[in-house]
Amino acid sequence: MDGQDNKERVRAAMAAVDRAAFVPEEWRWAAGEDRPLPIGYGQTVSQPYTVARMLELLGSGGRVLEVGTGSGWQTAILARLFDKVYSVEIIPQLAREAKFRLQKLKLKNVKIKVGDGKKGWKRYAPYDGIIVAADADEVPPALVSQLAEGGRMVIPVRGEMLKIEKHGRFVFVPLV
Ligand code: SAH
Repeated sequence: MDGQDNKERVRAAMAAVDRAAFVPEEWRWAAGEDRPLPIGYGQTVSQPYTVARMLELLGSGGRVLEVGTGSGWQTAILARLFDKVYSVEIIPQLAREAKFRLQKLKLKNVKIKVGDGKKGWKRYAPYDGIIVAADADEVPPALVSQLAEGGRMVIPVRGEMLKIEKHGRFVFVPLV
């Protein structure tokens, strides 16, 4: 996919989603600022700059797995970039609130479940894109196995943003 095209696509998708609708009342005034904002339960809605960069790396089209639904803001943007969005959130209250917000926006191509996103969501695998919204200690093997051939995963690992692409199966001796 053409990098410039995708940048424009991401910009348009982000512009179409009102971030203020995803933050608590008392933080609405700051929704337009380029910084993370509290959404309760010790979590934050991601910073717009970070989301833009990650989505540019992720590409678009097909099925995407999101790990860390949070407020559902990034989920709503993904719904405009991918045909189907599957999102896993570990905090049940956040998953419930995000579901409610996305229903209000009448986004029909999104499914959210409560669970540990490190395990992915096997039922709908493989995914053309996987995006992880929280910093990982290592790349979870289940996510690698649920990535489609030609798929891309964007994941922060110990503070560094990684983009992983899958290029099919090859046979090797074990690395000792
Ligand atoms: N992108 C979201 C916010 C991300 S904050 C937004 O725009 O609102 C990161 C989210 O990841 C938090 O909601 C946190 O609860 C969730 N999370 C952390 N570890 C997780 C795990 N193992 N599985 C699923 N969700 C997880």
